[in-house]
Amino acid sequence: MDDPILDCLIVGGGPAGLTAAIYLARFHLDILVVDGGKSRAAWIPCTRNHAGYPEGIAGTELLQRMRDQACKYGAKIETEFVTKLEHAADSGLFTATWGSGQAIARSVLLATGVSNRRPPMDEELHDDALARGLVRYCPICDGYEVTDKKVGVIGSDSHGVAEAVFIRSYTADVTLIAPDTALKVGPEDRRKLKEAGIDCVDGPAQAVAITGDCIVVDTAEGHYTFDSVYPALGSDTHTQLGEMVGAKLANDGCFLCDTHQRTSVPGLYAAGDVVHGLDQISHAMGEGGVAATTIRNDLCAKEPRWRASSSELEEAEAGS
Ligand SMILES: Cc1cc2nc3c(=O)[nH]c(=O)nc-3n(C[C@H](O)[C@H](O)[C@H](O)COP(=O)(O)OP(=O)(O)OC[C@H]3O[C@@H](n4cnc5c(N)ncnc54)[C@H](O)[C@@H]3O)c2cc1C
Repeated sequence: MDDPILDCLIVGGGPAGLTAAIYLARFHLDILVVDGGKSRAAWIPCTRNHAGYPEGIAGTELLQRMRDQACKYGAKIETEFVTKLEHAADSGLFTATWGSGQAIARSVLLATGVSNRRPPMDEELHDDALARGLVRYCPICDGYEVTDKKVGVIGSDSHGVAEAVFIRSYTADVTLIAPDTALKVGPEDRRKLKEAGIDCVDGPAQAVAITGDCIVVDTAEGHYTFDSVYPALGSDTHTQLGEMVGAKLANDGCFLCDTHQRTSVPGLYAAGDVVHGLDQISHAMGEGGVAATTIRNDLCAKEPRWRASSSELEEAEAGS
């Protein structure tokens, strides 16, 4: 028997993909979420800037609540990693492949996120430090938690400088540490660092241990102890599936979308961190909602989705 054609395949089950799943399932559309299970939200020990949770909420709990909500309305979720996406120009249909499975869909939403580049450190130490707030990745999210603390920023170039200067409005004790060699900063950045009173330390640097409530970083200039360290080493954007079908990217390597989350490929949409914009849960959710509504409207423009009458529904039920 031929596989049924999905109205929408969502790749990625983080805040963007799951918000879209909730909307699309409630639009009575036939959808599937395929998720690799590596949402950045799952790394968050407790998010305190997400509206509606005054005491904060763990990223894993937020994701589970969203999955439950999507499934309640009929969304199906599979834990798999999609490795191939094809687009048939004549039919407009997409075929996605993973492991031993595949799906055919009229539309695809890519909500595949980004990965932060990690500093050189033992993986177990990294995960433990992350859970305890000794390593942090997002000053917009949790800069408040390091107010008046001793903070190290591992980074270089303008990106590292911008992160260190951003954190300077939370604490007077900020040190910028080069990850690999001597700190590379131009005259303008050096001026900014001086003006903000940010100390600079040459690399190579490696976070080596947790002592009490602090993290120790070994550098070319000796050991430093911090309350928290922010790696500012950039991120890798998961656009590979979109590139397979020719989706255009913006200058920063994220998907180029219109204001309704359409990519340059008809029927292909993108939402969340994988699209240029603020890398935050609220933004990912907002884009997920916009994408889902656009997908619904675009599908209905091609073919109206009238709801069957109650007698037709009864007949269908009796026949099934
Ligand atoms: C340590 C940390 C703390 C943070 N704290 C906060 C905070 O307090 N507040 C806040 O607003 N934001 C915070 N963020 C940012 C927030 O987590 C992200 O902005 C948010 O998760 C983005 O959602 P998303 O759905 O776009 O991507 P993600 O949540 O990253 O989800 C993407 C999903 O796509 C899947 N995927 C990728 N490729 C494939 C594929 N080929 N096949 C199948 N699945 C695939 C991945 O496995 C993943 O599950 C934090 C981030 C980190 C790392």
